Amino acid sequence: MIPRIRRARLRGQDGLHVLELKDDRIATVTPERDASLADGELDAAGGLVLPSFIDLHLHLDLAYSLDLVPPNRSGTLVEAIGLYAAAKENFTPASVCERAVRAIEDEIAFGTGAIRNHVDVGQTAGLRLCEGVLAAREKTKGRIDIQIVTFPQDGVIRDAGAIDRMREAMRMGCDLVGGIAHYERTPTDSQRQIELLFDLAEEFDADIDCHIDETDSPESRCVEYLAAETIKRGWQGRVTASHVCALASYEPVHAAKVVALLAEAHVHVVTNPGVNLHLQGRFDTYPKRRGLTRVRQLMTAGVNVSAGQDCIKDPFYPFGTGQMLEVAHLLAHADHLSSASQIEQVMDAITVNPARAMRRTDYGIEPGCRADLVVLPVENVHEAIRLRPRPTAVLKAGRHV
Ligand SMILES: [Zn+2]
Repeated sequence: MIPRIRRARLRGQDGLHVLELKDDRIATVTPERDASLADGELDAAGGLVLPSFIDLHLHLDLAYSLDLVPPNRSGTLVEAIGLYAAAKENFTPASVCERAVRAIEDEIAFGTGAIRNHVDVGQTAGLRLCEGVLAAREKTKGRIDIQIVTFPQDGVIRDAGAIDRMREAMRMGCDLVGGIAHYERTPTDSQRQIELLFDLAEEFDADIDCHIDETDSPESRCVEYLAAETIKRGWQGRVTASHVCALASYEPVHAAKVVALLAEAHVHVVTNPGVNLHLQGRFDTYPKRRGLTRVRQLMTAGVNVSAGQDCIKDPFYPFGTGQMLEVAHLLAHADHLSSASQIEQVMDAITVNPARAMRRTDYGIEPGCRADLVVLPVENVHEAIRLRPRPTAVLKAGRHV
């Protein structure tokens, strides 16, 4: 346990600070007045200290599976789903666990303190991938927090039986109900899927995080139904919409209506800049769409927007490192978030915004917050995102990880 972090630079504050830690928490934050260091203290050496990054959207069962599946020739989401469906028949819980632990270690090394993971459950995956990811969470317990979402990769209506697997996965220890509303065969089935997700969420008093409208097609209009159902069921603040790419292709009048509805329903949005840039726009020639949702417009409307890694070297995306600063760097480019205040918003998208979506009440650099911290060898947020350095220290509950 580290008693104190010395010579720390903090977001939005001048000068250097001392963070006094007690048990697993931050006890006090005071200006630095002394130059000498005592034994056991952590010297931030004038570097930026942030609450650990949060990766709000990741697929650990997919991580490092690129070489286990045939090449994705079209580069599209739909081809990736098909390729993965065939490959995952052979996955064992042990093999999934091994790859998942590798990805978790990557994330920890880059300063991630919490992950929301979507695990594939359904007729083909059964519960084997879920068992593997639960085992990986157990192996890394105490070093990182992992929420697990039951994710019906092959649909809920078109993969009859998926909802029962999801129920079993919730009983096994998963935390949230997931979905993939746009992947059903008809709009009616998409809406039916959303209703079934809410039924399951009510059964377990669980939050929802649904893959939705992950397509360039302006005809994909699932997210408005998700938001309307959120209000109807009283689930405001407990629902996350992941991707929401199609919103960028709606005509402006309808887009404005949907953005306002998401704000009204307090639906959190996650964009996955690397993966959305890579998978979307595949049917475009030139000009090519960027594939991300309307990040700036959503933020301006007061919608809580986070950014996620989504994939690490898998059939959906051959890149990805588990470094949230890289995700932030991509986000800044993809939606022109380049002014000083927008760069701060980009940092929010990998820190305080996902903490809010996770409903964390002890996240931040304030007395009482848990000492989940990352120390970066730069002076400010702009330099952190520009240079994307490795952390000089990563702490979980006040201890080095
Ligand atoms: Zn995903």
